[in-house]
Amino acid sequence: MGDRAKNGQSVRYHQSGRERSIIHMVDPDLGIEPEIMGSLVYCIHFKDGCRWMDELKKLKGHLNTCKYDAIPCTSQCGAMIPKLMMEDHLMYTCPNRRLKCELCGREVTAEVFEDHMATCQYEPVHCENKCGCKIQRRFISTHRQKECTKRLVACRFCNKEFVYDTLQLHSSKCPRYLVLCPNRCDSSKIARENLEFHLKECPSLIMCCGFKEMGCKFKGPRFAMEQHMETAGKAHLLLMCGVVSHQQHQISNLCSALSSLAVNTSGVLVWRIADYSQKLAEAKTKESYELSSSPFYTSQYGYKLMATLFPNGNGAGEGTHLSVYIRILPGEYDPLLPWPFSHTVSFTLYDQANSPAKATNIVESFVPDPSWENFQRPSKEPNALGFGFPCFVSHEMLKKRNFVKDNTIYIKIRVDPSKIIAV
Ligand SMILES: [Zn+2]
Ligand SMILES: [Zn+2]
Ligand SMILES: [Zn+2]
Ligand SMILES: [Zn+2]
Ligand SMILES: [Zn+2]
Ligand SMILES: [Zn+2]
Ligand SMILES: [Zn+2]
Repeated sequence: MGDRAKNGQSVRYHQSGRERSIIHMVDPDLGIEPEIMGSLVYCIHFKDGCRWMDELKKLKGHLNTCKYDAIPCTSQCGAMIPKLMMEDHLMYTCPNRRLKCELCGREVTAEVFEDHMATCQYEPVHCENKCGCKIQRRFISTHRQKECTKRLVACRFCNKEFVYDTLQLHSSKCPRYLVLCPNRCDSSKIARENLEFHLKECPSLIMCCGFKEMGCKFKGPRFAMEQHMETAGKAHLLLMCGVVSHQQHQISNLCSALSSLAVNTSGVLVWRIADYSQKLAEAKTKESYELSSSPFYTSQYGYKLMATLFPNGNGAGEGTHLSVYIRILPGEYDPLLPWPFSHTVSFTLYDQANSPAKATNIVESFVPDPSWENFQRPSKEPNALGFGFPCFVSHEMLKKRNFVKDNTIYIKIRVDPSKIIAV
């Protein structure tokens, strides 16, 4: 008796008490009576040296670990596998077992399956540029080079690199982007940053004639301007003439407005006569040598007057006295004023004493005689002498006191609507 393999069937020793019987087993799990399963048996590898002995039902568990039961893996992975475990090993743990990739359909050994899964060309993966795309690994490189919206591309105008989906925005601002001249001139496309400079010189820029302010209505492209200047020379001159005469008119209006602003309308004129000795000397050599004051008004809309002075006298005072007169000039408001002129007129020669309290001025006044023609409304070109005092101050008197000081005299002319004689 002993163990032997017969037609692939296992032959097991069965020990029951002192007896030994042989049980032929096709499958240890089938058709075995429970009491038999409880009988004590030796390991089937007793002869090889295994000293295991236990209930029959524990034999299968033992064989999983019995070193006398192992044989080399039938898939040549090199591992020693208990025979009973071989099926499991080949199906679940043998590194040489074949596994099928669900993605590409290829069969690979379990040993390299993990590596394959990490590189399978059919696995959908996220684009590394974070564009949101998930595509099979085999297409990813083409995607990143040609399709990815987050790929870097160089602007073809300025060569700087931009993320693809911002390129359009960049193009709308890129300083090197080529644009057409808005004037449609003959020049080829211009880099955006040069457009401003180009427009300053663009031959097609529509310009106004330089004589626009003078009234020339011509408008045309820059290249036509030179010819316009040549052909319109006469017209431009005429325009200029019109402008000049208009401006002259304006200037004279401004001048009169200005002088009316500066005019004295107080009815009082203090007339300073400097270089008195030279003027007296000159008057002695020239007949009817006469000094005239600046015109002044009795009020803003009043009579226009002027004083005259003969240093060497006039009429009754000739050669001996200083004579003073008032003359009525044609004024702007004469039509509105009462005539004859009837204001009181007074002349004062100042004594330029150091202290005004010690001064003794010379004063002469008159109330106009309404019958005197010099007080009628004056004509446009007055030639009237006026009215006043031929013997205002004698030359002798002038030398006294401080009537002449620093070769200067002061005469005040006061024109007053009241009839009170001023002193
Ligand atoms: Zn054993
Ligand atoms: Zn194996
Ligand atoms: Zn695969
Ligand atoms: Zn992408
Ligand atoms: Zn650019
Ligand atoms: Zn242009
Ligand atoms: Zn012009």
